[in-house]
Amino acid sequence: MTTPLRSVYLSVVIPVYNESDNLEPLYQRLTTSLDKLDKSYEIIFINDGSQDNSYARLNELQKRRPAQIRVIHFNGNFGQHMAVMAGFERVRGEIIVTLDADLQNPPEEIPALIQAMEEGHDYVGGIRKKRQDTFFRCYASKLNNWLRYKMTKIRLSDQGCMLRAYRRSLVELMVISKETSLFIPAQAYSLSSNPTEIEVRHDARESGASKYTFYRLLRLNFDLMTGFSLLPLQIFTVLGLLTAALSGLFVIYMFLRRLIVGPEAEGVFTLFAILFFLLGISVMGLGIVGEYIGRIYQEVRRRPRYVIKEVVEHQTPDSH
Ligand code: UDP
Ligand code: MG
Repeated sequence: MTTPLRSVYLSVVIPVYNESDNLEPLYQRLTTSLDKLDKSYEIIFINDGSQDNSYARLNELQKRRPAQIRVIHFNGNFGQHMAVMAGFERVRGEIIVTLDADLQNPPEEIPALIQAMEEGHDYVGGIRKKRQDTFFRCYASKLNNWLRYKMTKIRLSDQGCMLRAYRRSLVELMVISKETSLFIPAQAYSLSSNPTEIEVRHDARESGASKYTFYRLLRLNFDLMTGFSLLPLQIFTVLGLLTAALSGLFVIYMFLRRLIVGPEAEGVFTLFAILFFLLGISVMGLGIVGEYIGRIYQEVRRRPRYVIKEVVEHQTPDSH
């Protein structure tokens, strides 16, 4: 077991959370298309605390191809991006490809990613052709992509697509950053020197349901915004200055009215409306500041980002 791991050409990293029925078809399609490449490869599955049968299924797959498949079991659910990062910490490949376990990212597209990498890029992002998700998610994500680009200047045409390829050096940079709020495609983009994007097919989920609720998507986007931009804070400062200036004018106006018209009690509700509006803005600002402080807090605590329960792999020297 102490034999050092040999390096391989390609590492495929796949986060798995309650995907037990997808694993067999994924295994079949993935190994078929990787075998065709005629390059050495490994597949790393990260079980992100699944409560279904994924644990046993993954171990069973590992037994079928012990030299090529490695499985990392987490102690609980730490999120897709943490799972991918745990895979990144252990990859042996020159080129690293990430994909989802639900077969929304067809494994048959991997050769196209690799071809783009071989043309000299250190990062290849996927753009989903004819995205197979709900109408709401497609449009929400278009809007979100636009907003994110304006705020962070990170050009990801399709931030939700995890079918991507990275050069090993880029992955190593991400691993040493040790950030607690992760959004891997964006981080990779900001570190890469020669990124590109290609179109990839996108299928409907093979089985099971999406693990992202509206709330989780929102959290993920906060991670993205706060992780790569101070713009929310700056917008808030400008907004504060503007409202202070307007309120100042309003005070002068009221004062003059008091002198000219005399005491008056009308307009109390208008005043309330204005007050509530300003209060709303202040609370929102506190929230934005809180989003940053919360992340700073997590960062300084330096707790482990995830806990690994078990790693299933055979460290044979002749893995191909
Ligand atoms: N996933 C994970 N941990 C989570 C949520 C999701 O490892 O907490 C995995 C999931 O098993 C899948 C991938 O991340 O392989 C993408 O998840 P999903 O298909 O639910 O997201 P969507 O395609 O709806 O964006
Ligand atoms: Mg999916």
